[in-house]
Amino acid sequence: MIHSKQLFERAKKVIPGGVNSPVRACLSVGVDPLFIASAKGAHLRTVDGAELVDFVMSWGPMLLGYVHPEIHEAATQAALRGTSFGAPCEAEIQMAEAVIDAVPSMDMVRMVNSGTEATMSALRLARGFTGRSKVVKFEGNYHGHADSFLASAGSGVATLSIPGTPGVPAETVAHTLLAPYNDLEAVKALFAQHAQDIAAVIVEPMAGNMGCVLPAEGFLEGLRQLTRAHGALLIFDEVITGFRLSYGGAQKRFGINPDLTTLGKIIGGGYPVGAYGGRREIMERIAPCGDVYQAGTLSGNPVAMAAGLATLKLLKAADYQALEDRTARLTDDLSSIFQEKGVATAINHIASIFTVFFKEGPVTDFESAKAADAGLYATYYAQLRELGVNLAPSAFECAFTSFAHTEQDYDQFLSAVRKVKL
Ligand SMILES: *Cc1c(COP(=O)(O)O)cnc(C)c1O
Repeated sequence: MIHSKQLFERAKKVIPGGVNSPVRACLSVGVDPLFIASAKGAHLRTVDGAELVDFVMSWGPMLLGYVHPEIHEAATQAALRGTSFGAPCEAEIQMAEAVIDAVPSMDMVRMVNSGTEATMSALRLARGFTGRSKVVKFEGNYHGHADSFLASAGSGVATLSIPGTPGVPAETVAHTLLAPYNDLEAVKALFAQHAQDIAAVIVEPMAGNMGCVLPAEGFLEGLRQLTRAHGALLIFDEVITGFRLSYGGAQKRFGINPDLTTLGKIIGGGYPVGAYGGRREIMERIAPCGDVYQAGTLSGNPVAMAAGLATLKLLKAADYQALEDRTARLTDDLSSIFQEKGVATAINHIASIFTVFFKEGPVTDFESAKAADAGLYATYYAQLRELGVNLAPSAFECAFTSFAHTEQDYDQFLSAVRKVKL
């Protein structure tokens, strides 16, 4: 039998770090990655023959579970008709109509192939539309790996951007202004200083890339007012929250309409799809309608569109509230177990998302998230994996439940957590 360990050694010779996306290498939890042979429902099977209940779900896309029969059927039927044309097909219109119908602020939408492409294109459009250069982003929010978004704060100069990685010119991130998540005053200060230059504020309407962090009361409303008052666009990055916080995303749930929205993950039903959309007058600036260029050889791919459409159709009829209730019960039970163990935790959750932060007290921004004990998380992660439960291999990520998880899956998770020694 092939083993994960052997595959990882082989992979490292030909793929940087042995992986095609860094966090998969499990470096921050100090173990080697498991190679997956197959998946079904909420379960992964590794090449080592182990079966795990999964709470990563491909980082969010698999809200309906792995290999859902209707999504599989739709995608394979589409594949038989041709996997890419480079010319329009009807599925693209159906997909656009379904997305616009669901997401309150969208009049038009453009399909791309990833969340990164969606946010990158939305920012270009916001800059083109406003004729301004600067973008406000929040610490601990992730918007894919386009240059403009790879900025982190230098110590003591919270609003001065330095690149978070080599390869990004300082001039590029000089246009990126940073503010702490949930800190409206900091955003006000940025507008006071740069009002005429800010093209957009981009925000995860529920932060999902520093673990799950909810928007504080009034935060999103405040961003809506500030951007409107200063002629800047508000971009909701709903790549995680879209079709997860509700069928219409975070904006539907919280009742706030951004100017532009980015989507990804769930809308592809497990295939590579991203999308950005919003108000008609803004979207009509995109080529060939307008002058802001954006294109893609595989954009609106018929197989991905078929999988996405089947996904949306199933989700439209799904009972989100029941899944949210099950997830809330799970986090209540987790909380009791950690209390019995005498381990300090703060558990944030909403809809089918939760994060256990190993620390006292509330987690409301990147600063408080980073204070969690990552070493303890690594111990927790490694033991749970041995006990047949797969969590994200990083302390600062979300756990995802899905419509495919059963009570038995939750019980298995809880009994594994009871056994963990922390
Ligand atoms: C995952 C993610 C992205 C990037 O999407 P990719 O498909 O990985 O490029 C962007 N924004 C948010 C909020 C995400 O969670």
